[in-house]
Amino acid sequence: MSIKLTAQTPIKFIKGIGEARGEAFTRLGVETASDLLAFYPRAYEERGNVRRISDTIDGELCAIEITVRETSKVKMLRKGFSVFRTVVEDESNVMEFVFFNMPFMAKALTSGRRFRAYGRMKIGLYGREMTSPKLEPIIEGEKLPYYVPVYRLSPPLTQKAIASAVREVLPLCESLPELLPESVRAAKGLLTRAEATRIMHCPSDREELALARRTLAFAEITTFRLALSSMRSGQKKENAQPLTLKNTGIKSFFASLPFELTNAQKRSVKEIFADLEKPNPMARLLQGDVGSGKTAVAAAAIYLCVKNGFQACLMAPTEILASQHKKTLDKFLSPFGIRTELLVSGLPAAEKRRVRQGLADGSIDVAVGTHALITDATFFKNCALAVADEQHRFGVRQRKTLLDKSEHNGKRAHMLVMSATPIPRSLSLIIFGDLDISLLDELPPGRQKIETKVVKKEDSLKVYDLVRGEIESGGRAYFVCPLIEEGESESDRRAAEEYFTELSTEHFRGISMGLLHGRMKPSEKAAEMEKFASGETKILVSTTVIEVGVDVPEATVMVIENAECFGLSQLHQLRGRIGRGSKKSVCILVQGGGNDQSADRLKIMRDTSDGFKVAEADLERRGPGDFFGERQSGEFSFACAAIGDVSLLSETDGLVKDILANTENSEYTNILSAAAMFLLKNSDGRTVN
Ligand code: ADP
Ligand code: MG
Repeated sequence: MSIKLTAQTPIKFIKGIGEARGEAFTRLGVETASDLLAFYPRAYEERGNVRRISDTIDGELCAIEITVRETSKVKMLRKGFSVFRTVVEDESNVMEFVFFNMPFMAKALTSGRRFRAYGRMKIGLYGREMTSPKLEPIIEGEKLPYYVPVYRLSPPLTQKAIASAVREVLPLCESLPELLPESVRAAKGLLTRAEATRIMHCPSDREELALARRTLAFAEITTFRLALSSMRSGQKKENAQPLTLKNTGIKSFFASLPFELTNAQKRSVKEIFADLEKPNPMARLLQGDVGSGKTAVAAAAIYLCVKNGFQACLMAPTEILASQHKKTLDKFLSPFGIRTELLVSGLPAAEKRRVRQGLADGSIDVAVGTHALITDATFFKNCALAVADEQHRFGVRQRKTLLDKSEHNGKRAHMLVMSATPIPRSLSLIIFGDLDISLLDELPPGRQKIETKVVKKEDSLKVYDLVRGEIESGGRAYFVCPLIEEGESESDRRAAEEYFTELSTEHFRGISMGLLHGRMKPSEKAAEMEKFASGETKILVSTTVIEVGVDVPEATVMVIENAECFGLSQLHQLRGRIGRGSKKSVCILVQGGGNDQSADRLKIMRDTSDGFKVAEADLERRGPGDFFGERQSGEFSFACAAIGDVSLLSETDGLVKDILANTENSEYTNILSAAAMFLLKNSDGRTVN
């Protein structure tokens, strides 16, 4: 049976795909032919940059054009394991290819045939060698592509299978609805959507590729901004519970705090209270570096809400953080008779039932929890304020679900989102375009500056000595494991365990140590964290799961292995786990590899303790990708915007304004429906107001 190929054709019906490959595509988020068009390569091999064999250096990934001299017999080393060698040459030199377990290839490599080969050059004792290079036959009069796309894979998909499926659907480009009006494309020098999409899959040179990316990124950012703006207009409705400061004893709350609020905290509280007094739902982001005191600000808002007779909830990304918040809120709020309860999935079923009952009948004022809080079994009597900590773990969708959840009598809850990820201003307007922003740009007084050192791997022994000294004088230390590529969680666990074993058997014998990684159950993680906080363990070896929010004032050292692999903002986040007590803290960045450039990046960490400056530096060096990544986890993914340059963000200003002012203009129909689609996809099918 043959069916006509359209944009909506399910992926498994595309020629050469079928069930198994179709499922693999679905795992990659590709369900239809048009999804496949938008499945842009994650990278490109620059095979058109052909080098002379003699000019290549050891370890270099490169393309060469060769003629086959002779191919050896295929040797069976043992059952199912074969090898053969091929001698090849270009005008500059002779070298060898080695192929393991590819006996079928030997037949193609006959003497005199010419190929373009792409692989890693190895220069050894006996000359140059490439292992299993990728080969393309050179045919007179035919031009090989300059770039060869590399797609994300999921087994049993191969690059070849994806490339051939893409070739099948590529003619559909022409039917993609154009998002950008002709006048805008002309003014900005952009391509049509059809051209740009085709080029993404088979670019012929660097300039063309850059222009295609720019075109798609421009449309993507515009769409995203339109979607955010429509979310914002929903927030302008007068459907929230206005709160009042009157008769709430708010002064006595501030007086009860063990410290005086910083000016930044006071300003943020004022902005938040002003929002809460209005009948429009608040949608505010409280952005502040680690340790800037976001919790106290949130506690003030929660206090106000409860003293107005309503419930509030606070949502954290992990159970550890949720229980820490519960303790802190109890400290701040229980003296005023405010009842806070923890609701996380790790609780016994009876306990969960009890808390849910209390939330439904109103006997519990404040719920603190993880997303378990927003599962369908939880109902509030009258929740008027929802606080979400560490925004970058949440997406637009989770926020919306939380809001829907907390709606009562047709009223929306006010929403406060807290984030410890400093985002450069130029980006935050766009990334958080659906939120008003309050900034905590000042740390509480008397905070010890964290000293940051950059050392080479060779100096590890000195580092261990320093850590031992610190522990002998009562301190505690974090060791952050090297980052695993591709975030494979299973190998992540193994790497963490190996690192733990090495440290505990070779360098810190007799010192009690704990291990924390992403594959542990939340209750196991909490138990490890508890041991470290109480001092039962003195060293905590961890993957980046300690990244957010955890507070252990006795921890005074952090060692981060292979620091060059982390983004600067992420290093800054990690570093914020120490320096929380009165003792001086050190963060040691161990550079395991990389070049001068990575050394320079790490020096920024050494010289700057201001998270916003670190973020600006990150933006300058690595582009906006990392920051969009924050927004990306588990929701809308930016296919192109993440690689775009920063100036593109402000370049969309004019168009966004014009579209919003002229929504009836037929040229804007397509991009407006793309924005509506985005909202739909991110709202669990509920209507967006
Ligand atoms: P974060 O913004 O990282 O969530 P926290 O709210 O956890 O920061 O606050 C960090 C620490 O600083 C806590 O121990 C808190 O009690 C303390 N703190 C908060 N505000 C002040 C202040 N104005 N003066 C002194 N200490 C403060
Ligand atoms: Mg916090």
